[in-house]
Amino acid sequence: MSRTSPYRSGLTIEDPRVSQRVQGFPESVIREMTRIAALHGAVNLAQGFPDFDPPPELLEAAKRAVDHGGNQYSITWGDPGLRAAISRKAREFNGIESDPEQNLVVTCGATEAMMASMLSLIDPGDEAVIFEPFYENYGPDARVSGATPRHVRLEWPDWHLDEEALKSAFNEKTKVLILNTPNNPTGKVFTQAELKLLADLCTDHDVVAVTDEIYEHMVYDGGRHISVATLGSMAERTVTINGLSKTYSATGWRVGWAIAPSTLATAIRRAHDFLTVCAPHAFQLAGVAALAMPPSYYDELRRSYQAKRDRLVTALRAAGIDCRPPGGTYYVMTDFSAFPFADDWAFAMHLIQSCQIATVPGSSFYADPRSGRKQVRFVFCKRETTLDDAIARLGRWEQGRDHSWPT
Ligand code: GLN
Repeated sequence: MSRTSPYRSGLTIEDPRVSQRVQGFPESVIREMTRIAALHGAVNLAQGFPDFDPPPELLEAAKRAVDHGGNQYSITWGDPGLRAAISRKAREFNGIESDPEQNLVVTCGATEAMMASMLSLIDPGDEAVIFEPFYENYGPDARVSGATPRHVRLEWPDWHLDEEALKSAFNEKTKVLILNTPNNPTGKVFTQAELKLLADLCTDHDVVAVTDEIYEHMVYDGGRHISVATLGSMAERTVTINGLSKTYSATGWRVGWAIAPSTLATAIRRAHDFLTVCAPHAFQLAGVAALAMPPSYYDELRRSYQAKRDRLVTALRAAGIDCRPPGGTYYVMTDFSAFPFADDWAFAMHLIQSCQIATVPGSSFYADPRSGRKQVRFVFCKRETTLDDAIARLGRWEQGRDHSWPT
């Protein structure tokens, strides 16, 4: 199967009944690559989900929840037991104070928390500052809510932030800053100094920070996750988004949440109620068990992912694909300029066909696809045996690559 790359044609749906809003959405390349991987029997190092289950005690908790009353709607903004558990963990791990009755909204994954937050904050014409490369959902989030995105580039290879570029992105129309730390797709963990700068800009321009912290437990090499809401008076102007998906390897459970000042939480609850009513109740109940996992669980998660990161980065470099070990998340953004491929789609399709490894073309993380034309993203949230297989395939590809390159 081949695919029309964004360089050659638009993605217009040929039916005049389709709204302009949705015509403006890209197709999710991340999800598409999972489908293409399956068609080619490729190892899926594209979409960021584990190929292993949540811990057994969470599976048991989910089964118990189905057997004991978790089959009808919960309170729209979240089961009270889960909200209490989220509030406790946010205090203990992040240092965020919250009242489960006032400040919490449980949603269908962090995805819905982000969309509901944007719908609650944005009027058409408002601007949203978004770091680029960005997780591809933020584009449609801006479009549905009516926000005009203002992109601020994180620069390859260390994804550093240009202070002047950031400052000049803020103006009187800026309503929100979307932040994702640790960051998908770059793996960047924003430093305390960078977060302080962001906090000062938000405060000076009366901007709300909407922070997606879903990778908070995947910070490596002794680094530390810092929640923006804990800086200065930022709690008054921060929506902190998180969820079960990544920390507990339960991306299909669709349980996420937002922690926000009470007026904003009220607004997000309304948007959420009319979007989805509630997150799956049984999995909310299982979430109480997830949030009660001991500290050793998080230590082991970090240790295990750091080891997987090191294996994949070593293999990629050995194959001549340039990258730096990411400070956080389970993604590695790479540069394949050393190889004579026209663009990221050509390289990604080559890797699927010649190497049976699926990646995400870099262009899908940029507003202008050309900016990512020499990059592809790999994930390492996979079992050791899956990584063994991928690394072996990369090795074979590297040895035989002269024969499989385009001429
Ligand atoms: N966050 C994951 C990724 O970037 C996937 C999320 C999704 O597909 N909903 O791959």
